[in-house]
Amino acid sequence: MLIDFRTLTMVARPLTPEEGLRILKRDNFVCQYCGLDGMASFENALAMSVDFLHPRAHKGRKHAGNLVACCRPCNMLKGRHVFKSFDEAKAYVLARRDELRKSWDSERRQPHGAAAKA
Ligand SMILES: [Zn+2]
Repeated sequence: MLIDFRTLTMVARPLTPEEGLRILKRDNFVCQYCGLDGMASFENALAMSVDFLHPRAHKGRKHAGNLVACCRPCNMLKGRHVFKSFDEAKAYVLARRDELRKSWDSERRQPHGAAAKA
């Protein structure tokens, strides 16, 4: 793990901090999946990373067309799935986020179940 302390960009090998930074600048430090603004706060900056659209685990290559700015939660949700296009990957990640948010919301309501109105 390499950290660029100017931007807190964390990129995994084989990307260098310079290569990661180039992709993040191109994408304005905004997660291309959920839209998180990596420049808005320290916490957001810490969350930013670079995603291999076609995963490295599936021989995805290190060229700009295969790399996008991505927050770590979206990166984790996307995992090693292979998609036909960026749009398909984005739809998948956003759907997963939505599912998780619904589960989280309903779990969170449990302790206060009596007070909450469904
Ligand atoms: Zn994101």
